[in-house]
Amino acid sequence: MNHLPRRAFALASLASCLLAANAAQAAPNFQMPFACNDVWVANTWDGHKPGNSVDMNRPAGDSRSTAGSTVVASAAGTVVTSTYSNNTGYGNYIVIDHGGGWKTLHAHLQSRAVSAGASVRQGQKIGAVGNTSALYNLAPHLHYEQIYNGAVQKATWNGVALRYFEKKNYKSQNSCGSGGGVTGTVKTAGLALNVRSGPGTNYSIVDSVANGSTVSIRCQKTGESISGTYGTSNIWNNIGASGSNKYIPDAYTHTGSDGRVAPDC
Ligand SMILES: [Zn+2]
Repeated sequence: MNHLPRRAFALASLASCLLAANAAQAAPNFQMPFACNDVWVANTWDGHKPGNSVDMNRPAGDSRSTAGSTVVASAAGTVVTSTYSNNTGYGNYIVIDHGGGWKTLHAHLQSRAVSAGASVRQGQKIGAVGNTSALYNLAPHLHYEQIYNGAVQKATWNGVALRYFEKKNYKSQNSCGSGGGVTGTVKTAGLALNVRSGPGTNYSIVDSVANGSTVSIRCQKTGESISGTYGTSNIWNNIGASGSNKYIPDAYTHTGSDGRVAPDC
């Protein structure tokens, strides 16, 4: 975003230093706001407003564009703000309350996937990277803040403090475990459900899961529209280990949501 007057920055820095010592223990286990194994450049600099904010882009040479990339929750929490700001530079932005005085803020989003009041899991998609702002013409990037009791802190991901003030690549460990804790329950009329190598019935059958099985959902992909136990949906759930393709239709999976519950595959 933009630059603060130097005096204001100095005051913000002082407040951050005073708070950080107490804050560390109460912090959730924040992860990068991107899907497992995604590599992003974190850019921090003296004068970034507010102090300690992080701007994030895909690394140079990455074929995927920064704009439109999936943003996920750094930790579980409740969405307290999801709106377009007409009077700040944030544009489309989302604030998640993680409890214990901790919040995360995500700005300039191209789109917002969750509304205020929604509960989100760690690793759940909350929006897409963009360049929206009522005040600035921006190149697409994610503006990200970890906030404790109203003051932006130096960010920590996966227990590792970011190195300020330099540009550095970081690799997301968000929900890299078995499904990142996102689970669903298979519900059919009784028969086992086919597991496909891709998000559609034209893909080969590679496995099956019994009715009533609990599955870990690592990521989700848009594919063939399927009508099942829970209505009609084009979301397919990847229940395979990292790097594998094992998909079942969300229309036969109870996740507690008709929308996305895991990052894009
Ligand atoms: Zn920024």
